[in-house]
Amino acid sequence: MIEIKDITKIYRTGGEPLVALDKISLSIQEGEFTAIMGPSGSGKSTMMNILGLLDRFDSGTYYLNGKDVSHLSDNEGAHVRNKEIGFVFQSFNLMPRMTILENVELPMVYANVPKKERNERAVKALERVGLGNRVKHRPNEISGGQKQRVAIARAIVNTPSVLMADEPTGNLDSKTTLDIMRIFQELNAEGTTVVMVTHEPEVAEYTKRVVLFKDGVIRDDYPQQQKIL
Ligand code: ADP
Ligand code: ADP
Repeated sequence: MIEIKDITKIYRTGGEPLVALDKISLSIQEGEFTAIMGPSGSGKSTMMNILGLLDRFDSGTYYLNGKDVSHLSDNEGAHVRNKEIGFVFQSFNLMPRMTILENVELPMVYANVPKKERNERAVKALERVGLGNRVKHRPNEISGGQKQRVAIARAIVNTPSVLMADEPTGNLDSKTTLDIMRIFQELNAEGTTVVMVTHEPEVAEYTKRVVLFKDGVIRDDYPQQQKIL
């Protein structure tokens, strides 16, 4: 499903070029639930942004569902992302002026889904994350955990094959963190592949595989007995 080979990413923004990822190779199969771990600055977010087609890389190849997505234009990348990838951010990234329903409809607007179907699917996705009764609210009227559930509804509304999340529980308390991990486990059990960055070992326990980054390389990669919620 995800097949990357020898991916190198160099940031050239400051003085010295910085090698954030150094020839990373990684395969993720359908149905996996993987935690990307490692200390701050080890390259986790850079990896996630590349996997989510939010950023480019300098060399190497990336195959997503058998298709070479290494050299897409911004437009092509956005198209593939909207169709095949759901992305969840640490800081939710909801549109503040839109209602929760409109936020969840947005990926379907980009996919030209007709209004009535958009509405039905958005309501369904919100019910899926336990927020069917909050559709008319705006993001500033709900809690952080609820915002992240809206973001998950938005991420799954186009039924992506893979759900990606960068520190999705980084801004949440421990009880809300478990709510989010439970939703991820349920979606994974229903067949969605999940890849998630976390630096918290307690959060990684709920996944089936840990990939450990250190200084831009993969230091360790092992399956584990998943703690079920
Ligand atoms: P992590 O997510 O593990 O904290 P990052 O992927 O954010 O690591 O960062 C990896 C390295 O790349 C760090 O040294 C970081 O400072 C650097 N870096 C990340 N983003 C940028 C950027 N946009 N410009 C320059 N350097 C960056
Ligand atoms: P995280 O590690 O949780 O992803 P950071 O605080 O490292 O968050 O980075 C936040 C944002 O700043 C990211 O978009 C990242 O690309 C950018 N960034 C990180 N390090 C640098 C850097 N050294 N120079 C420029 N941008 C950076």
